[in-house]
Amino acid sequence: METVLVVGAGQSGFGVATSLRDKGFDGRVVLIGDEPGLPYQRPPLSKGYLAGTAGDAQLRLRPEDFFAEKGIELIPGRVASVDRDGAKVVLDDGSAHEYDHLVLATGAVNRVLPVPGSTLDGVFTLRTKDDADVLRAALESAENVVVVGGGFIGLEFAAHAGRPVTIVEAQDRLMARVATPEVSAFFAALHEGAGHTILLGEGVAALRGEGRVTEVELGDGSLLPADLVLVGVGVEPRTRLAEEAGLAVANGVVVDEHLRTSDPKISAVGDCANFPCVQAGTATRLESVQNAVDQARAAAAVITGEPAPYDSLPWFWTDQLGAKLQIAGILTGAEKTVVTGDRESGKFSVLSFRDGVLVGVESVNRPPDHIAARRLFAADPAPRFETLEANGFDLKATFA
Ligand code: FAD
Repeated sequence: METVLVVGAGQSGFGVATSLRDKGFDGRVVLIGDEPGLPYQRPPLSKGYLAGTAGDAQLRLRPEDFFAEKGIELIPGRVASVDRDGAKVVLDDGSAHEYDHLVLATGAVNRVLPVPGSTLDGVFTLRTKDDADVLRAALESAENVVVVGGGFIGLEFAAHAGRPVTIVEAQDRLMARVATPEVSAFFAALHEGAGHTILLGEGVAALRGEGRVTEVELGDGSLLPADLVLVGVGVEPRTRLAEEAGLAVANGVVVDEHLRTSDPKISAVGDCANFPCVQAGTATRLESVQNAVDQARAAAAVITGEPAPYDSLPWFWTDQLGAKLQIAGILTGAEKTVVTGDRESGKFSVLSFRDGVLVGVESVNRPPDHIAARRLFAADPAPRFETLEANGFDLKATFA
């Protein structure tokens, strides 16, 4: 294998390049990215970077020297097409780059709110450093801030915006896609305590204004004054290259347990990849740093000839208003939950069970529980309800 070419210089693309070198790969490693500057991580964008407590240095994944030292070629530019017969990619500027193995690490783009007025000035989404820079500046003069979407991004933005905001969420609770009702309720109380207004079960019908947003119209016709609207309603995987190259695509680039696409010379990793997830028991696309980093490592292992089926445990985190939520496992389909710890003092964990087996643990301000949960999930088989019950639902005692 001579040249591995990676499209997308984000968390997972960077991870593939560095993992290849860690594994002793001595061919060419080429990383092509369409964002300005060095590869960076996104989590601080909706946390410390937004609040102004973290700067460029905290975003950067590695300093410039690192890439030269590791022999990772960084090429700025946007890949316009993949020529599978010729085993090369073509950039917007017409230049072509050949590969022996290609990795698609193209990430995702923010979903646009499908209502009138979604492109008015003053309406923002948050995905890139450029988005965060523009938002930070806009926040300085904004008076009425409305957040559409009560998921991770919307809530982290609210938590770090430094002023009371109104959060509009279509579901009947916050973070409904990823958290249990117990955790949703805790974070709703936290945000209300910080002065935010939460409107649940409310759709947005339109964003109103002449050129610039001045009001958010809700589904019931009521109007909220707004001069800054942050839309956080999820993402779409970036699959155009794969589709046009004739690869299988379905809610992401479809890959097998070795993260190979329908063309064995092409892998896909991170937010753009739809993979057979052992923990979910179905094909899944995950959007997290853990998923990006672990899949990058696994794809590099396949390329260097040490393939192992990808089965890393999914885990997530979010920081809001001094509370750290860590989630280990996949909660989908869980039918039973048990709360341990002390909700009143804001230190508790929620254990979720599917068919009597532990499938997910959400820990609020209880990092030791999160670590114990990850160890428990690594054990084979995962603990059953009765085992945990016998240990008073103490995760550490169960693992010991
Ligand atoms: P990305 O990091 O999006 O990288 C993809 C890159 O590919 C981008 O730079 C894109 O511009 C580039 N690209 C796409 N197409 C082309 C092309 N044709 N040519 C060249 N380049 C291309 N996860 C957590 O686990 N915890 C958190 O707290 C957390 N916070 C987050 C906060 C924010 C604001 C955001 C946006 C995400 C957060 N995430 C968090 C999610 C996490 O950052 C993503 O899951 C992760 O970045 C995915 O990595 P990726 O490499 O798949 O995609």
